[in-house]
Amino acid sequence: MSHDPNCLFCKIVAGQIPSRKVYEDDQLLAFHDIHPWAPVHVLIIPKLHIASMAELEDTHAGLMGQMAVLAPRLMRELGVTNGFRTVINTGQDGGQEVYHLHMHVMGGPRPWAKG
Ligand code: 5GP
Ligand code: ZN
Repeated sequence: MSHDPNCLFCKIVAGQIPSRKVYEDDQLLAFHDIHPWAPVHVLIIPKLHIASMAELEDTHAGLMGQMAVLAPRLMRELGVTNGFRTVINTGQDGGQEVYHLHMHVMGGPRPWAKG
């Protein structure tokens, strides 16, 4: 399924739920996390509904690479100059709450709320 009508992040992709977007192209969307752990905390997601990293297939390798390459670019654009943290939570024991693949990218001066 490329779009899950019950998925929160698919609704953000579709514009049915507002978000503070920082980047968009054909394949990816990035927006500020609603409960940031750090001064800058964005989520990078594929527009395609992939529930988690556990569902990745070989055909998604390019998409994952694009997500990884976008992270430092966004941090630079958002003024993060002293390093950043990337996190992908997967499944129940991985602490995943929203089942649409997303990469957390966090930066800015410490201390942070979490992490
Ligand atoms: P997970 O635990 O699944 O890795 O992280 C889900 C993240 O999505 C959390 O950091 C949470 O704050 C964020 N989040 C949940 N609902 C919304 C929302 O409606 N809008 C935005 N921008 N972020 C959300
Ligand atoms: Zn989704």
